[in-house]
Amino acid sequence: MKKVAIIGAGISGLFIANLFKRNPNYQIIIYEKNNSISLEEGYGIQLSVNSIKLLNEIGFKDLQNSEKFSPEKINFYSNESYNKICELDISKFNTQDCMYTTLKRSSLINFLKKDLGDLIRTNYKISNIDDQGAQIKLSFENKEIKECDYLIISDGIFSKSKSLISNNKAKIKYNNTLAIRGILTKFPENIDNKNINLFLGSDFHYVFYPVNPTGDFNFIAIIKYKLSTEEKKNYSLFKDKSFIKKVLEKTPIKNKDLLDDLKELKIFPVFVSDNFCKIKNQNIQLIGDAFFAFPPSFAQGASQSIESAYELFKSIENKTNDNFFERRLNKTKMVNNRSQLNQFVFHLSNPLTTFFRNFFLKRLMKNKKFLETYLGKIYNN
Ligand SMILES: Cc1cc2nc3c(=O)[nH]c(=O)nc-3n(C[C@H](O)[C@H](O)[C@H](O)COP(=O)(O)OP(=O)(O)OC[C@H]3O[C@@H](n4cnc5c(N)ncnc54)[C@H](O)[C@@H]3O)c2cc1C
Repeated sequence: MKKVAIIGAGISGLFIANLFKRNPNYQIIIYEKNNSISLEEGYGIQLSVNSIKLLNEIGFKDLQNSEKFSPEKINFYSNESYNKICELDISKFNTQDCMYTTLKRSSLINFLKKDLGDLIRTNYKISNIDDQGAQIKLSFENKEIKECDYLIISDGIFSKSKSLISNNKAKIKYNNTLAIRGILTKFPENIDNKNINLFLGSDFHYVFYPVNPTGDFNFIAIIKYKLSTEEKKNYSLFKDKSFIKKVLEKTPIKNKDLLDDLKELKIFPVFVSDNFCKIKNQNIQLIGDAFFAFPPSFAQGASQSIESAYELFKSIENKTNDNFFERRLNKTKMVNNRSQLNQFVFHLSNPLTTFFRNFFLKRLMKNKKFLETYLGKIYNN
C-alpha cells in the first residue's frame, strides 16, 4: 500500500483526499497547520460545470438542494448608471446533472470533509521536506516526522511547502487590488435576485449572487488600490477600523446602501502567482493555489483547484506519471489569460472605451462561437 501525504486541508487537499480514499491501494493523511478547518462561514463561492462534473464523482449531486443554487445567467450592469448592459446565459454549458452552482464555502468544505474523519490531522505545520527519491520524509513544527511515497502540496498561495522543496523561489505578487467581501443582508430593489449580478465601474467591479434558495447573498468587490511595501506586509492593517473606513470611502460604488447592508465585511489584499514551479521528483506535486493562484475575476480558482486535484489523482492511480505538469500548465495559462483580460475589461474607466466595451460585450455575449472558445474551452474539460 502506498502512503500519500497531503499538506493543507483546503478545497484542493480535501477533494484529492476523497478521491484517494476510494482506492484501497493508498493510505492517505492530510496535514493541516490550523487547529481546525477554516469554514469561512457565510461567504459564497461560484463553481462552474467543469468542477461540478468532478465533484459529482464523490456524490456532490446528493448535497441537499437547500444548500446550493443554480443561477442561469450573469447580468452585466454599469456601476455608474445602474443600467443593465447585457446578460450571459451560463446555463448553456449545463447538462442535466452538472449545473453552474453557487453555494456557501462552508457547505462545500463540510461536504468535502464529511467522510474524511481522522484522516485529517490538525496542528501540523510543515517545517522540512527531505526528498530521498522513493521515500519522502516530512518534519513538522510539533517535532513529529512522517514518511510517505507521494507528497501532495495543497497549502494555498503562500505555500510554505513549495518554498521548502523548490530551488527557484516561487513568486507571488500583489495584484494591485483589494477584495471587499461580505454577506448581503438586504437585496437591492429592481435587481434580479435569482442570478449573478456583475457591476462594472472605473478600476472597480463587484458581484453579488444567491448562495441558496432561501435568500442568502454573497457580495464581493474588487478595487484597484496601491499599497506600500510596508502595508502589504502588515496584515493587521486590514483589520484596522480606520483603514477599512478609508477604503470604503474610496470605493466608487454608486449604490452606497449596499455597503451599509453588508455583514461580516472583510477587506484583504489579493495576491496572485507570478511563476510556475516544477519539482524534479514526480512523486511530489502541487495542486490548487499552491500550483497557481489566479486573479479572482474569472471565479475559477476553486474550480481549477478541483480540476488539478482530479488530474493528479488520475495520473497517480493510472501510474501514467505522465505529463500532469505540462497539461496543467496549458490549462492554467488559458485560465490566467482570461482572468487578467476580464479584470482589465471590467475595470475600464475612460467613457469612450467603456462605450465600446459595452457595445462589444452585448454582441459577444450572444456570439455562440466566441462563447464556445472563451468559456467552453474552460468549462467543458
Ligand atoms: C476574493 C476571492 C474570491 C474568490 N472567489 C472564487 C469563486 O467564486 N470561485 C472560485 O472557483 N474560486 C474563487 N476564489 C479562489 C478560491 O478561493 C481558491 O482558488 C481556492 O480556495 C484554493 O484552494 P486551495 O485548496 O488550493 O487553497 P486554500 O483554500 O488556501 O487551502 C490551503 C490550506 O492549507 C493550509 N496550510 C497553509 N500552510 C500550511 C502549512 N505550512 N502546513 C500545513 N497546512 C497549511 C491552510 O490552513 C488551508 O487550510 C476566490 C479567491 C479570492 C481571493
